[in-house]
Amino acid sequence: MIEQKNYDLIVVGAGPAGMTAAIRAAERDKKVVILEKGPSAGRKLLICGNRRCNITNAEKDPVVFSSNYMKNPKFMISMLHNYSNFDVMEFFESRGVKLKQEPGLKVFPRSNKAEDILDVLLRRLDELNVEILYETEISDLIVEAGQVKGVKTYKGDYFSKSVLIATGGKTHQKTGSTGDGYVLAEKYGHKIVTPKRALYPFEIEDPRICQKLSGLTIEAALTFKNNSGVLFRERGSVLFAEFGISGPVMINASLKVSKSQMSGLKIYVDLMPDIDEQGCDKYLLEQIAQNPNKSVFNLLDGFLPKSLAEVLIWSAQMDSSKKAHQITQEERKALVSMIKGMSFDVSKYVNINKSVATDGGIDLKELDNKTLGSKLVKELYFAGEVLDVIGKTGGFNLQVAWSTGWTVGNVI
Ligand SMILES: Cc1cc2nc3c(=O)[nH]c(=O)nc-3n(C[C@H](O)[C@H](O)[C@H](O)COP(=O)(O)OP(=O)(O)OC[C@H]3O[C@@H](n4cnc5c(N)ncnc54)[C@H](O)[C@@H]3O)c2cc1C
Repeated sequence: MIEQKNYDLIVVGAGPAGMTAAIRAAERDKKVVILEKGPSAGRKLLICGNRRCNITNAEKDPVVFSSNYMKNPKFMISMLHNYSNFDVMEFFESRGVKLKQEPGLKVFPRSNKAEDILDVLLRRLDELNVEILYETEISDLIVEAGQVKGVKTYKGDYFSKSVLIATGGKTHQKTGSTGDGYVLAEKYGHKIVTPKRALYPFEIEDPRICQKLSGLTIEAALTFKNNSGVLFRERGSVLFAEFGISGPVMINASLKVSKSQMSGLKIYVDLMPDIDEQGCDKYLLEQIAQNPNKSVFNLLDGFLPKSLAEVLIWSAQMDSSKKAHQITQEERKALVSMIKGMSFDVSKYVNINKSVATDGGIDLKELDNKTLGSKLVKELYFAGEVLDVIGKTGGFNLQVAWSTGWTVGNVI
């Protein structure tokens, strides 16, 4: 039997949105409990940014900041007004986390450890005496006469004046974000904008090259092409993975490819984007002239990462110990064409679970845009990725969690 405490706020989900809301509400002397279905808090936060956690973006202008959201940018301007990216930085810095900026104004802890971010949140919750009950999965809301009164869990019922659903989206479901918030909200009349994958890496038909290059990050220019021609070009940091191609530029590119454009989709990776094909050939000829007795492997290794040199030789079916001066014209042409446009056939539409974020969620039209309270059920609130807001990579999605979580904690 659950001891029935009189909570002001029950937060469902100990992700960044739920924890931020709980902190802000407890700072305002509200009695708060977080109910988390998993064994620990912030499991997705810990894998953010390759475990380095890109907490936000240092863009100063809120209008420019919010242009990085594919939907509802105006909503984000007002959320930033409540709790901005600079408020987030100040929160962590004032609690001892040194921050740094990386290209694209991405903000990370200087330690490169997502744990440092989670530690601060947990310490602050502890200071404020916020209870977190783990292994406590919410199965339903308790709603009476159009007003939420608490939640049902498999361990029993909990009662409170307000309830915040901060259950996240539907990606990387091992972290606990299995879309429960959508089901709960829908049951009580909320419209859910169909959740779909967004911000995903590309799986490649024949991943052997990607497997050989797995873990390598390079600056490259990318051309996305399908049966109807070139779709778009991008330039940036590409990460090879066991299954295909990832990295910020790829993940943001996924926002530009619709399902119907996937048929016959190819990605061409230009490994030396600052020179054209002729320039690349000239460069290779110069290298050969300067190092005639170097092996082809050592020659390529001189200006490309080792694993890439190995892959080019493997793809061109060359003997890696062959001397540079023995490279035939055809072999040189093959190397140049791979350097300037290594091509990859995209295999299929990636499963939503592999996406970084969910596109879709609680329709904002049914929420009070100042409080994030439901217009349908009194004292029911929503924050974080469960909302129909989606940003590019670069710290924009965590900012949704911080700003919306704080907003709810500040109004309940
Ligand atoms: C691989 C990866 C890397 C990412 N990197 C970045 C990055 O560097 N920067 C960035 O800005 N964004 C990044 N994101 C996105 C970011 O992680 C999310 O937008 C953010 O975690 C959303 O926070 P949230 O609190 O809304 O939800 P979540 O972090 O998903 O937390 C939801 C919590 O609710 C709990 N829960 C769910 N259902 C129930 C239930 N029924 N009862 C009780 N508890 C429940 C879950 O267990 C979970 O703990 C990344 C995402 C992924 C997958």
